[in-house]
Parts: sequence; structure tokens; C-alpha cells
Amino acid sequence: MRRSAGEIAKMRRAGRVVAEMHEATRAAVRPGVTTAQLDAVAREVLDRRGARSNFLNYHGFPAVICTSPNDMIVHGIPGDVVLHEGDIISIDCGAIIEGYHGDAAFTMGVGTVDAEAARLMQVTEASLWAGIEQLVAGNRLHEVGRAVQDVAESAGFSVVREYVGHAIGTAMHEDPQVPNYWPGTPGPLLKTGMVFAVEPMVNAGSAGTRVLDDGWGVVTADGRLSAHFEHTIAVTDDGPEVLTLP
Ligand code: MG
Ligand code: MG
Repeated sequence: MRRSAGEIAKMRRAGRVVAEMHEATRAAVRPGVTTAQLDAVAREVLDRRGARSNFLNYHGFPAVICTSPNDMIVHGIPGDVVLHEGDIISIDCGAIIEGYHGDAAFTMGVGTVDAEAARLMQVTEASLWAGIEQLVAGNRLHEVGRAVQDVAESAGFSVVREYVGHAIGTAMHEDPQVPNYWPGTPGPLLKTGMVFAVEPMVNAGSAGTRVLDDGWGVVTADGRLSAHFEHTIAVTDDGPEVLTLP
């Protein structure tokens, strides 16, 4: 689906709220904080900006952000989990303004992290930007996944297959999906006005995943670390525009 300039302006506003949720939660991450406290910080931003949450009540999800520490890949429910020095934490945030959605995630260290954790986060963020560079009119969508996969696997890491990026607009998750790997076909032609959430999930070990008993949290099958970075991006005449930056 192609969005008008007016629609993209609303998505830009939603994206700015998401960026503000990132800034506020990032500033609150420290040893001893609970993931429920991070959710409260994000809620305060939504309230202050008059934005609605697209995460809260999504298929029954009970919070406005997902908090996924260490070996958790995505979809962690905020709660009484305490963050410790040396952990990594992925925080995924979303917001709705006038019916239009923004969605973005980042991973950061809690205090000082070891070298592998630091490299995993750096490579995952680099893979996101490599994917974003492919969102150019006239290119094919699945070049995004090819670029992400190349960066992640060149570094010796693996890309999650079961969870993918997505188009976004008046719903958080719209078709088509945006895999973080080459799916074997080039995919749809990219046109100005299309908007996507690109979100590589990169594992330090193997790509396998497992869903926790709560039905939400997804962890690595091998128990090793995972990182997640995401932005919402519009395809414009001037190239990709990241809507979820401050
Ligand atoms: Mg997200
Ligand atoms: Mg998303």
C-alpha cells in the first residue's frame, strides 16, 4: 500500500513519539531497575503526547512496550524482572497518532557488557541500517533481508527466521512481511509512499527459537544472547526516510 504525504506526516508524528519512548526508557535502564518500571516510563511518554498504544491489548498483550533481556529475542512482557550489570535488554515501543502507527526497537547494555554482547548489538544495528539502505523506489523488497543477512552472517551470527518485519500504516502489522533473510524470491517492487518496519533479530549462536510458557516471550533455543533493532521507514522520492528518529 502507498501512503499519501499527509498520511506519512501523521506516521512521522507517531514515529517521533516512539523515538521519545526510546530516549526515556534508555535513560531509565540501570542495574536494579525492573522491566515494569521501564513500561511505566514509556506509558508516561504516550500520555504526555496524547498518543495511543498499539502494543497494549494487542492479542491481549498487557503492556505498552516489550522488554526482552539477554537470551530473549522479542515479545517479553514487562514485570518484576530486575536488570543486572552486564545484561543486555531489547526494548520495543510503538505509538498511534490519529490512527497512524510507529514501531521501533533497540538493544542496549546494562552498565558494562562483555565483548561478545557489545559486538552482537553493534552488528545487529549495522544490519538494520544495511537493510534500510535497500528501501529505494525501483528496488525489490527482499533485498532488505539479503542485506541484513549478509551483515549478520558475515560477523558469524545468525538471523531469526520465525519473526520478521512488516509493512505498517493504519495497522501495526500490514502485508507484506519483511524477512531478515533472502527468502528465495525478490519480492514486491518498492514504490514511493510505501512504509515498512524493518527489524532484524540476530542471535549470537544458532537461529532457533522457543516460546515461553507465558505464550509471549521468545527466547533463543540455545540460550545464547539475541539483539533486536527496528525502525519505521518510508520509501520517498529522496530515498528511505526513517520516521522513528528524534
Ligand atoms: Mg516493534
Ligand atoms: Mg515491528
